[in-house]
Amino acid sequence: MALPGTSSGLHIAHIAAEMAPVAKVGGLADVISGLGKALQKKGHLVEIILPKYDCMQVDQVSNLKVLDVLVQSYFEGNMFNNKIWTGTVEGLPVYFIEPQHPAMFFSRAQYYGEHDDFKRFTYFSRAALELLYQSGKKVDIIHCHDWQTAFVAPLYWDVYANLGFNSARICFTCHNFEYQGTAPARDLAWCGLDVEHLDRPDRMRDNSHGRINAVKGAIVYSNIVTTVSPTYALEVRSEGGRGLQDTLKVHSRKFLGILNGIDTDTWNPSTDRYLKVQYNAKDLQGKAANKAALREQLNLASAYPSQPLVGCITRLVAQKGVHLIRHAIYKTAELGGQFVLLGSSPVPEIQREFEGIADHFQNNNNIRLILKYDDALSHCIYAASDMFIVPSIFEPCGLTQMIAMRYGSVPIVRKTGGLNDSVFDFDDETIPMEVRNGFTFVKADEQGLSSAMERAFNCYTRKPEVWKQLVQKDMTIDFSWDTSASQYEDIYQKAVARARAVA
Ligand code: ADP
Repeated sequence: MALPGTSSGLHIAHIAAEMAPVAKVGGLADVISGLGKALQKKGHLVEIILPKYDCMQVDQVSNLKVLDVLVQSYFEGNMFNNKIWTGTVEGLPVYFIEPQHPAMFFSRAQYYGEHDDFKRFTYFSRAALELLYQSGKKVDIIHCHDWQTAFVAPLYWDVYANLGFNSARICFTCHNFEYQGTAPARDLAWCGLDVEHLDRPDRMRDNSHGRINAVKGAIVYSNIVTTVSPTYALEVRSEGGRGLQDTLKVHSRKFLGILNGIDTDTWNPSTDRYLKVQYNAKDLQGKAANKAALREQLNLASAYPSQPLVGCITRLVAQKGVHLIRHAIYKTAELGGQFVLLGSSPVPEIQREFEGIADHFQNNNNIRLILKYDDALSHCIYAASDMFIVPSIFEPCGLTQMIAMRYGSVPIVRKTGGLNDSVFDFDDETIPMEVRNGFTFVKADEQGLSSAMERAFNCYTRKPEVWKQLVQKDMTIDFSWDTSASQYEDIYQKAVARARAVA
């Protein structure tokens, strides 16, 4: 561990499109604050750079104010002013960039899904680096995340290093290889990248079509490349890499998978202010009280306190196994349980399909679908549920299974990616009993899911004492960021040491 102010404490800047709880779409947001806080606790100076979205939760930022500086950054042949805001989120210093550009890139009432997302985030990547450069900060690590800030890596080495801003080493984390950020090659020029230099098969040209690929560029140009679990790191070296497998093979020496942690302050049933009653592994009465409260809130039947409640909190996209989620709803009804789904979809057909299912069960007092994003309600569902399903087709890491366990909800998951690294089947005699913590299935079909659910329901109803011990064990597993942050700390230190040796 590095002590604050000692020479081993690093200066780390995360450049990202999301951060919990101020601007959250999915797990990326949790990682930025969770990893950031854990690194700060280890004695490093951690700063975060985010876009200043009009839709962000400003009430989650303390001391938000505009800095008395204007940072100018290049875009499409012109220089634009950026208003820089600072504030503290979860104890971390954050810089918010508000471009003074006529396209109002971050005043769109949503984080992603705009026709010009590529433009919005190439702009942001350039402005974020400009902010660091103009501030004169001697950063050791610049950590960028996903395609939205992948441009930071080539920009840093091809533009800023030439200006003498080269003390940092670049770490890139890909949280999901499904989203790679591709565009016609010429669009790279918007943020000042050299198209001719980068539009080559060994640099940024996509491996299967003529476009350029942001994630590929970050893999090629970063000093360290990570993804969010060891199993996913293996999967993306073959089909899971969505066309980038060969690039990952070429750069395999700098690539590794580090399992995400969860923010154990935010996700703590013994202090969670969203819950009706706080509880811990030694007091499961409190968990039962939350179940009763949620049933009342959602108008679910409450005659049988021990009727199992299955939870699911997810973005409704193909990756999450939407057909299996649908199946789990019907299977739960068949098995006599209750089901609560909290989810929303950016895909209109999927959203409509689930609205149809919600209507179908409208008068059924055992099934509720809440088709929106609701952070407060998510806490209540983790606390109230007995089981939690994550039947993903692929899952880079997945946080919901870990959060569920911390709240004493036993996960039922498909063995893929980070789910394979965090959930171990209760009935699998080939693994030690002490690590068995949930129910898993392998094939992405209804049969596999049904049999895992049947085993879970059986255990819950027939062996309540065994179930209680399983719940208590799950609640005490350490999913904190501490171990994973140490792994990041280690690779950062090594990269910095190599850089200093060269210098
Ligand atoms: P992904 O990043 O692919 O969406 P993760 O499992 O890594 O999946 O992270 C999901 C995070 O988003 C969790 O913190 C989960 O609680 C939260 N979440 C997902 N959907 C919703 C929703 N509809 N309302 C509230 N929180 C949600």
